[in-house]
Amino acid sequence: MRCPWCDADDDRVVDSRPADAGGAIRRRRECHACARRFTTYERIEEIGLVVAKRDGSREPFDRDKVEAGIRRALAGGSVSNAVIDQMVDRIELRLRRKGPDVTSRQVGAEVLAALQKLDEVAYLRFASVYKDFQGITDFERELGLLLDKKEPTKRRGR
Ligand SMILES: [Zn+2]
Repeated sequence: MRCPWCDADDDRVVDSRPADAGGAIRRRRECHACARRFTTYERIEEIGLVVAKRDGSREPFDRDKVEAGIRRALAGGSVSNAVIDQMVDRIELRLRRKGPDVTSRQVGAEVLAALQKLDEVAYLRFASVYKDFQGITDFERELGLLLDKKEPTKRRGR
């Protein structure tokens, strides 16, 4: 650990004890170069959910993107915001149980399963682009194109 007083990277731990009710470990350190002391805290890194795309890139799971994708698939339907929120909650929970690393394919499969239970039309829309699904961004783009094509001839709703 680099010393905040003299910038040397040479120290020893002189004391370790629990802090934040066990949520952290506080370490008292002494710099070998200047003999001054400083404190560090060790905490568990927040567990993030990471999505691996088929092209090999990885990105943090983005709840908003999943929600946007679902909203597009449900466009014209009468599904309430509360139901969509619950749906995204369940998808996120299921993915976190599989995480911290999941594939875009797994994200797609969870969205698909959730849509199938809720809305057959939305499920079919999603399924028709799913075979080329590479991530929510691609999904949104393809679904957007699909919906744009459909809208002039067949508009759902009232
Ligand atoms: Zn120092």
